[in-house]
Amino acid sequence: MHVGHGRTYIVPDVIARFWRMRGRQVLYPMAFHVTGAPVIGISKRIARNDEKTIRLYRDLYKVPPDILAKFNDPLTIVKHFSDEYQRVMTACGLSIDWRRRFTTVDPTYSKFIEWQWKHLYGAGHVIKGAHPVRYCTFDDNPVGDHDLLEGDTAEVIKFTLVMFRFGDAVIPTATLRPETIHGVTNLWVNPAVTYVRACVDNKPWVISREAAEKLALQDHSVVVEKEIPGKDLVDKIVSHPLCGEIPVLPADFVDPDMASGMVMSVPAHAPFDYIALRDLQRQGKYTTIRPIPLIKVEGYGEVPAQDAVERAGITSQIDSRMEALTQEIYSAEFAKGNLFDRYGGKPVRVARDEVAALMTDQYGSVVMYEFDIRPVVCRCGNRVKVKILHDQWFLKYSDPAWKKQVSDQLQDMALVPPEVRLEFDRTVDWLKDWACTRRVGLGTRFPWDTTQLIEPLSDSTIYMAYYTIAHRIKTMNPNVLTPEVFEYIFLGKESPNLPEREKLDAMRKEFLYWYPYNFRFSAKDLISNHLTFQIFHHVTIFPKDKLPKGMVVFGMGLLNGAKMSSSKGNVFLLEDAVGEFGADTVRMFLMGSAEPWQDFDWRNELVISTKKQIERFYYAIHEMKDVSGEPKDIDIWLTSRLQDHIEKTTAALDNFQTRQALQESFFSIENDLKWYRRRLPKESNGSRMLRSLCSAWVRLLAPFIPFTCEKLWEDIGGQGLASFADWPVADEKLKSRRIELAEELLLRTVEDIESIKKLIQITPKSITISIAPGWKHDVFSTIARAPDKNLAIREIMKDEAMRKRGKEAADAAKQCTTLIHRLPPQIVELIAGDGVNERAVFEQAQSFLEKEFGVPVHITDAQSATHAKAAAALPFKPAIVIE
Ligand SMILES: [Zn+2]
Repeated sequence: MHVGHGRTYIVPDVIARFWRMRGRQVLYPMAFHVTGAPVIGISKRIARNDEKTIRLYRDLYKVPPDILAKFNDPLTIVKHFSDEYQRVMTACGLSIDWRRRFTTVDPTYSKFIEWQWKHLYGAGHVIKGAHPVRYCTFDDNPVGDHDLLEGDTAEVIKFTLVMFRFGDAVIPTATLRPETIHGVTNLWVNPAVTYVRACVDNKPWVISREAAEKLALQDHSVVVEKEIPGKDLVDKIVSHPLCGEIPVLPADFVDPDMASGMVMSVPAHAPFDYIALRDLQRQGKYTTIRPIPLIKVEGYGEVPAQDAVERAGITSQIDSRMEALTQEIYSAEFAKGNLFDRYGGKPVRVARDEVAALMTDQYGSVVMYEFDIRPVVCRCGNRVKVKILHDQWFLKYSDPAWKKQVSDQLQDMALVPPEVRLEFDRTVDWLKDWACTRRVGLGTRFPWDTTQLIEPLSDSTIYMAYYTIAHRIKTMNPNVLTPEVFEYIFLGKESPNLPEREKLDAMRKEFLYWYPYNFRFSAKDLISNHLTFQIFHHVTIFPKDKLPKGMVVFGMGLLNGAKMSSSKGNVFLLEDAVGEFGADTVRMFLMGSAEPWQDFDWRNELVISTKKQIERFYYAIHEMKDVSGEPKDIDIWLTSRLQDHIEKTTAALDNFQTRQALQESFFSIENDLKWYRRRLPKESNGSRMLRSLCSAWVRLLAPFIPFTCEKLWEDIGGQGLASFADWPVADEKLKSRRIELAEELLLRTVEDIESIKKLIQITPKSITISIAPGWKHDVFSTIARAPDKNLAIREIMKDEAMRKRGKEAADAAKQCTTLIHRLPPQIVELIAGDGVNERAVFEQAQSFLEKEFGVPVHITDAQSATHAKAAAALPFKPAIVIE
C-alpha cells in the first residue's frame, strides 16, 4: 500500500469523521478483494522455491520466515496481507468498522455471489458464445484489466484481410478501409523480417511468424511449412481482382507484429504510404508508380495524402505528426468523402461495408482481430494476443436495454467532480460483452460450469450491500445460506423454512438502515470498469430506492513529479511515510496538497513543512488555552472571522473539497491569529475568548489530524473524544461586519505603508494618513451599485456639483472603478452601504500604528492636507505620506 492508496482511504475517512461529528451514523467498512490469478501465482512461485519471489517477500515486504514458509498456501498469503493492511490502516487513523472485514473468497461471500449471479442469469445478462478476448498463452487464461503490465487502454479492432494472389499462395493484408482497394499501388514488405509460408485452413498463406501464431488463436488451423526471408518477396508481383497486378516494395516501417505482417499501400489516401513511396522514388526507384486517388473529399485536393503532407510540411516518415495526419484524413473521408463515379460514386461510409462484404463473399477475405495499441503485456511478462474463445461466458454489457437502465440511474447520481459524468456516459456507451469467467485463480465457482471461476471484476460489484451484514453473517453456517436467505435479507421476499430467522431479521434491518450507500470513493482509472460495472449489477438486482446515490472519483498520485506505479517501483509505501512523518502529517499533506479529484505530488520537502504546521497548531493551542484577559474589539473581530471559517470549512467538506477545507480551517485561522497578536497591546496575551476559539479550532481539524486533536481536546478539557464532539456551527450573533470592515481597512493600510516604505528606502520620520472626503464616498457608492460601471461615470458627471469639480471628479470616478474591481465584492458592498468611519478607525489604532512603525502617525482629512499626494485618497484607500 503506497501513499496514493493512502489518499484513497483517508479522504473517505475525513468525510466519515466530519459527518459523525455532525451527528450522523456513518458506516465506513473495509474488505479484501483477493479474487483472481495473482495470489495463486505467488503461491505457485513460492512452492517451486523461486528465488526472486522469495527475496521479494522476505526482504522487501518483510514477511517473517515462519509465515513465508506457509506461502505455498494462497489463503495464508491472503490472511497475512489482510492483517498487514489492517495494521497500517489503523496506524493511519482510519475509522473503519473492522467487525465487518471479509475477503471475497470467504465461503459465506461465495454464497452471496451465487445469489447475485442467479439474478444476472435470470435477467438474461449471462450469455455463452464465441468472442475475441485478450489472452495470455503462457497463463492459458483471458487477461483482465488488472492483469496487464502494459497496454491497458488497448482495444480489440476488427480488420478485414484483403487476399492478394501470389503464385499458388495468398498474401493477406489487414485493413480498416477495404474500399481503398481501388487505389492500391503496391504491397509493403519488411526485407529484414523472416516471413513464413503456412497452410491456413488448408490453403497456403504468406504471413509473418507472429501472424501465424495469432491466426491459430482465431479459429484457423495453421501449419507452418517453411520460412521466407522478407527480402525474397521484394519486387515480386501479386494481384487482386479489384486492383490488378501490383509489385511488392520494401519498407522498414512494416511491423511483423501488426496483423498479417504485410501492408497494402494506398499512397493517394494514406500519408505513411505516400511518404514511403516518395522516399523510394527520390532514390530513383519505382518512378513509374503514381498514387491512384479514388475518394473526393471537401477541403483536400486531388491526392489528399499528398495535400495533407505538403501542407503540414512533413518531410520524414518518422515525423511525430504522421499518426494524427493519418487519423485526420481517415475521419474526413469517412465523414464526408465520396468514391469517384468510376468506383460507384457512393459515400465512403456506405462503400466501406459494401466492398468488405464483396471481398468476403467473392474474394476470400476473412476477419482478423488485432489491438489498436501495442505492445499489450501480461503481468507474467508474456505478450497478450487476441483469442476467439468458444463456450465462453459473458456478461452482456452490450445490451442496449441494460445500458439504458444504467444511464438512467447515472442521471440520478451525484458524481464528484461533475466532469466525470461524461466519462461514465462514454463508458456505458462503448462497453462490450465481458468475459466473466476464468479457468485459474481464486474465487467463486461459476454456477453453470463449475470448472470455471467468476473473474475479479465480476464478483466485486454489489459487495457494498454485503458490508451491511458482513459481521452478522459470519456467525452462520455457509451451507444454510441458500439464495432464498439472500432474497429475504436484501429483497424482503419470504420463503418457507428460512434458517435462523432472528439473525436474518437483524441483517434485513441493518441492510434497510444503511442501504443504499451515499458515496463510493475510488480512483478515476476504475471508471472504465469497476465503477460502471457496479451500476449495471445494482440496477439488475435492487429496487430503485436501494440504488447507489453517488461517487467521488479521485485523481492519481505522483511521486516527485512522476506517476506512482507499483509495477515500476516508483512508490512511497504508506507505512514508511507514517513511520517517517507521523500519521497526522501524512493525512494533512494528502488532504491539503490537492483536491481529491486532482492529481497530487508527494515531495518529502513539502511533507516536512506540513509537519511543522501541525507543530505550530499544537503550540498555539497550548499558548491560548488558559488565557483569561478581558475581550476587546479585536476579540470580537477574531470571533466574527471564526464564524466565517466555520461556515466555509463546512461547505467545503459538504463538497468533498478537503484542500479548500484545510485552507479555511487551518491557514485562514492561523493568519487571523497572527494579526490578532500584532494588534494586542504589549502587555496582553489575549482574552478568554481565545478558549472558545481553541475548542472550535481543535474540532475543525479533528477529521484531518485526529491523533493531534484527541490529545489537544483532552488538554483543553473537552468531554469524551474529539472524534465524537459536536462539529462547530457558525453563530450569526457572533458576527460583526462593522468591526471586520474596520479591521480590514487597517490591515490593508498597514500593508500599503509597508510596501511604500520598501519602495522609498528612506528612514521615515513620520507617517501621515489622509482620509478621502465624503463626495468621493458618494462617487464610490454610485459606481459600486451601477450595473454598468462605464455608464455610471457619465451619470456622475451629469450632477451639477460634480461637474463643478471637473477633472478632479472624473479622475476620482476612474480611480474608484479600478479600486472596486480590485476589492472583494462583499467588501465593496459594505463600503457602498454604511461603510465605516475611517477617521475613527485610524484614531483608535494610532498607538498601534506608532508602535508598528516606530514614528509619529498623523491622521488628517485629505481636503485640509497640504501634501499633493493627499488628493489621491479614496474610500477604503487613504493617501499615505511618509516623510
Ligand atoms: Zn500471462
